[in-house]
Amino acid sequence: MKFSISTMKQVQPILSFKNRLSMVNVNSFLRPQEKVVFVMGATGSGKSRLAIDLATRFQTEIINSDKIQVYKGLDVLTNKVTPQECRGVPHHLLGVFDSEAGNLTATDFSRLASQEISTLSANNKLPIVAGGSNSYIEALANHSSGFLLNKYQCCFIWVDVSLPVLNSFVSKRVDRMMEAGLLEEVREVHDPKADYSVGIRRAIGVPELHEYLCYESLVDRATQRKMLDAAVKKIKENTEILACRQLLKIQRLSKKWKLSMHRVDATEVFLKSNEEEANEAWENLVARPTKRIVDKFCNN
Ligand code: ATP
Repeated sequence: MKFSISTMKQVQPILSFKNRLSMVNVNSFLRPQEKVVFVMGATGSGKSRLAIDLATRFQTEIINSDKIQVYKGLDVLTNKVTPQECRGVPHHLLGVFDSEAGNLTATDFSRLASQEISTLSANNKLPIVAGGSNSYIEALANHSSGFLLNKYQCCFIWVDVSLPVLNSFVSKRVDRMMEAGLLEEVREVHDPKADYSVGIRRAIGVPELHEYLCYESLVDRATQRKMLDAAVKKIKENTEILACRQLLKIQRLSKKWKLSMHRVDATEVFLKSNEEEANEAWENLVARPTKRIVDKFCNN
């Protein structure tokens, strides 16, 4: 049975002083435990795909927790899910903020994401928070002195991929992004006087292409090529550094939240030589086991 807030207000005044001393326990008994699922992982590990698989299975919606994808623009560079990849699953806090308005801090994010979580829960939908910004996730989990962890029961899914395997994948992904128009996207937001510490211009790829975009019209073709190759190499290196840092942060959080953390190893998926085998491995090693974990979590 679910207790409404008004029911709780009626119950609390009649509690004796002694009972009030154990209010935390009483409240957690009275309060229905709403649930939230987090999908975490380093860049390129497959978080977005897994979140969409889960949202499809549990008929729910996704709250983005990537601190760069919250902004409008640079869809290719920031690797936002395409409408086709979304498979009709609504995404919140994705590509909605104007980068010129300043940085969306971890505190801003946790306030906004908490509202989205409350709304989804109120509509009997299981909120799924997915994205690579661990500072956002940690701030949200600790929002208002542990508001989320106290009020909601959380299940953290960590999609893990061995780092050398992931590095080779993200390197090829940068090449695919270049083919898909990364350079033209960055050219549109390029401003020689821009502040690279604000909003979407912090995205890996924007500062790295700055020099090339400043000088491309002043140099010959061979020099242009050299400069562009150097920029792409830097994007790959910085993406690898990001993946490594994200992994270290998740390892730290997995110790902190060990009882609620579930590590799913997706490495095998990345080692398959063709798409069909990779899809099959994804289904068997990642999607299905995770659905079982979330099923169990929901029925607890
Ligand atoms: P930190 O405290 O280091 O900012 P975090 O957990 O808050 O870590 P991360 O998601 O690890 O945030 O992002 C760190 C940096 O990595 C961003 O400031 C940005 O430069 C880059 N980055 C993160 N996500 C993306 C993305 N989707 N596209 C491009 N660059 C990204």
